[in-house]
Amino acid sequence: MAYDCVAKTLNINGIVQGVGFRPFVYQLASKYEIKGSVANTSSGVVIHIEGAKDNIESFCRDLAEKSPPLSHITETLIHPAIVKGFKEFFIAQSIGQSACSTLISPDVSICDDCLKELFNPDDRRFHYPFINCTNCGPRYTIISDIPYDRPKTSMKHFKMCKMCQAEYDDPGNRRFHAQPNACEKCGPHIDLFDNKRKRIASQNPIEKAAQLLKQGYIVAIKGLGGFHLAVDAANNDAVCTLRSRKHREEKPLAIMSCDIEHIRKYAHVKPEEEELLKSFHRPIVILKKKKPNPLSKEVSPRNRYFGAMLPYTPLHYILLSHDFNALVMTSGNISEEPICIDNEDAFKRLSEIADYFLVHNRDIYLRSDDSIVKHTAGQTRFMRRSRGYIPVPVFLNKKVGQILACGGELKSTVCLTKENNAFISQHIGDLENQATYEFFQLTINHMKQILDINPKIIAHDLHPDYLSTRYALEQEDVKKVPVQHHHAHIVSCMAENRLDGPVIGLSFDGTGYGTDGSMWGGEILIVEDSEFKRAAHLSYVPMPGGEAAIKQPWRMAASYLCDAFGEDFAGYNLPLFGQIDDSKVKFIVEMISKKINSPLTSSLGRFFDGIAAIIGIRNTVFFEGQAAMELEMMSDEKTKGSYNFEWASGETHRIFLKPIISGVVNDVEAGVNPSIISGKFHNTIIALFSELCEVIRKENGLNRVALSGGVFQNSIILSGLIKELKQREFQVITHSLVPTNDGGISLGQAMIAAAACSV
Ligand code: ZN
Ligand code: ZN
Ligand code: FE
Repeated sequence: MAYDCVAKTLNINGIVQGVGFRPFVYQLASKYEIKGSVANTSSGVVIHIEGAKDNIESFCRDLAEKSPPLSHITETLIHPAIVKGFKEFFIAQSIGQSACSTLISPDVSICDDCLKELFNPDDRRFHYPFINCTNCGPRYTIISDIPYDRPKTSMKHFKMCKMCQAEYDDPGNRRFHAQPNACEKCGPHIDLFDNKRKRIASQNPIEKAAQLLKQGYIVAIKGLGGFHLAVDAANNDAVCTLRSRKHREEKPLAIMSCDIEHIRKYAHVKPEEEELLKSFHRPIVILKKKKPNPLSKEVSPRNRYFGAMLPYTPLHYILLSHDFNALVMTSGNISEEPICIDNEDAFKRLSEIADYFLVHNRDIYLRSDDSIVKHTAGQTRFMRRSRGYIPVPVFLNKKVGQILACGGELKSTVCLTKENNAFISQHIGDLENQATYEFFQLTINHMKQILDINPKIIAHDLHPDYLSTRYALEQEDVKKVPVQHHHAHIVSCMAENRLDGPVIGLSFDGTGYGTDGSMWGGEILIVEDSEFKRAAHLSYVPMPGGEAAIKQPWRMAASYLCDAFGEDFAGYNLPLFGQIDDSKVKFIVEMISKKINSPLTSSLGRFFDGIAAIIGIRNTVFFEGQAAMELEMMSDEKTKGSYNFEWASGETHRIFLKPIISGVVNDVEAGVNPSIISGKFHNTIIALFSELCEVIRKENGLNRVALSGGVFQNSIILSGLIKELKQREFQVITHSLVPTNDGGISLGQAMIAAAACSV
């Protein structure tokens, strides 16, 4: 050994397991002629290196800069060590419970190397739909326990053949310790059935499925995180049949195309969107439609956008190589239930919808829906954070204890915390039925297991009737922390931005239980971690019929009109009154005046719904927020004008709705184009809240504004408020890591509980 030989020990933490980290270290060591060892231990990856001083420095630099794409180093500690005179560099046996403190990788789309092999007729894995390596393939969805080793995954049923085993054992091979490694000879297989469970004999089930799709059939396809229901997106009849069988009347359907060029046939793709589409997370990306385009109008009716994605499993690539513009790939479930993951369950629940089933025998242990993102105002915005991103934690700016936060009700997620990490679960769904509630419980138990977290604190929503609240209250021997919904929204935004309070929080959404028992949703809060003060809100109006008013926005319209003009508002010439029976309107007015089943709400989401109905966009909806969404879609963004607004000043400012309603009604009666009215309404909301923020800044000396809540899925409101607030020299923080909708509140709940319990 050379006389200038030095030695160092490196301790590395983060996502460094199952992502090709040790082979990377091994190759780096041979590049720089470094001797020593690398091992997984209970405190992360430990590396001992010996070599020339310059080489050691290069090694450490490359380690930080060139680490594998799926790894995420959160901490590197380097200590001087004693030269032991190693003769080689080797990968040592794992020490202890190796994966306990290291993080698990999410599921990863097939990598370019595997893709080349997949379509290379000379490769032994040619067209093998389960090809993978250390850089790609299933992870989170096939793990049942830690450490992440093959016997703890659903690959345990498949014994590797000699060739696969040799790859697995060779540190120089890109399949070294790739836990799901497999081939045609030893791995999982595909099979095709009809909906009577009769096996369709075929040499090539994927090709056969492609033919059936071409003929207009609906095929249920087992994927990575669950089943999809697929049809040819260019076949209008097939798309309509799928919609009617699935009872999914109008909600947009996700589509998948083989490459960006195919997507460009029907949608505009900006460079940032292309990057998102191609990222290994492979989310559904919301893209502006091209007009005209070759796809069925029923894919995404009355919507300016398509939700499109690229293939992420080898199976998808093979299927889409059969010349489709796009396939509809919507979640394999019945309306709002969780998606099917196992074959039996799929046959049971989907045989009324699908004509054929393309299944395989690699089990999915934890379902994970496709993630949905949109690029707005210069950032990625999550509408659903799930497959491909879970279980990568949100890295916090402080250490917190072990906490479970149960989330809300719609678009529910849960959150578990440990040290600097907040692990938000995949999308669980709307917690309104038994099946989803069971999935919610299963997710909590599974995450506790694989993350090794045993929470002693549980955070939950204030709403007494949410299933998530009831779950929390049933738990024994834990401290329970109730958290207000809109408070949680704002703290969630602060947490992902690694900021502590106080901030001015604009918390805008459809519904959330207020501290006074009313339904809040158009709130400005002053938020200081575990505390908040209500600084302003929309005036309360009744929601006639409660839940029914969410499904029938015309009821909200009646309520706002009643609020503005009194009970005889029917004299106005509005499209609404031509479509809804007089007697029904009268009945609603009576409910309002007699306060029968009419909880009060200050929700901005409902206000959007009500305005949509007043303008004549729609009176009833098929999914929550549909009317508000269509109001956004029709807005003429070049519109300059706005409506008057005012508020009553006080300890808590109260925003009047009458001036805005009057302005809208006048325009409707004057025959102004609805797209102009919508534009003016959006401008009004932006102007109103930025002006209110200035007043609140003066009163409280705060300059930071956090934007959170489902309303910020509206791109016009999000971009408009960011721009306007920045012009007024506010510091604006928004969501780019977790959803702004209720999928993000579990994070806020956890952080509020952490703050509340640390004092
Ligand atoms: Zn690969
Ligand atoms: Zn094999
Ligand atoms: Fe919300």
